[in-house]
Amino acid sequence: MNPKIEQVFFECTKCGDCCRERTLLVTVTGRDIVRLSNGLGFTSNEVIKALDFYLVSSEEPPKGLQDIPSVKTEHGSAYIALKKLENGDCIFLKDDLCMIHPIRPGVCMSFPFVFRSEKTDITWGLSAKKEICPGLGIGPEVKLEDLRELAAAVLEDLSLFKSFAKEWNRNEQNQTAARLIEMILSDPRFSA
Ligand code: SF4
Ligand code: SF4
Repeated sequence: MNPKIEQVFFECTKCGDCCRERTLLVTVTGRDIVRLSNGLGFTSNEVIKALDFYLVSSEEPPKGLQDIPSVKTEHGSAYIALKKLENGDCIFLKDDLCMIHPIRPGVCMSFPFVFRSEKTDITWGLSAKKEICPGLGIGPEVKLEDLRELAAAVLEDLSLFKSFAKEWNRNEQNQTAARLIEMILSDPRFSA
């Protein structure tokens, strides 16, 4: 863990600001997608309707997406994220509350923290959008053990999804978004 910012105080005020932030993509991994489908009883078509595919427009990944794998679709390479309404709200936000809180994606569980694995070490920091979070700086001191546990789970998910994306981008012939979601939902690695 990063020793430079060990002392941080945080308590989520449930303000919902991170769910309303237009520029924060709620990217999803394979496990996030399976959890969503199982938790809401969604078919693959219904899962697709809850997602947006953000096409990759340049060689250089946008800030904040450097560690997120893009996947090939019929429209080009894209990042997968939960759909947002025109005003920037996540589609699962209602009256400032998350309607899928127990099964929310890893990025939602992590915010305002971000994690990265470097060789055998895990480092953590604060989101580039940390200034929107009123919970930072209040509440109890964040325990490193809790952060470490969350980081390990989130990074394992991401690592699995990266492997999947690599295989998909290299092998799959029928690279449509519909086929991609079917493949994710039937992949036993994401159900574990
Ligand atoms: S912006 Fe911060 S305090 Fe508000 S809901 Fe998100 S994590 Fe919680
Ligand atoms: S899934 Fe829930 S926690 Fe995540 S952005 Fe949407 S409303 Fe917020």
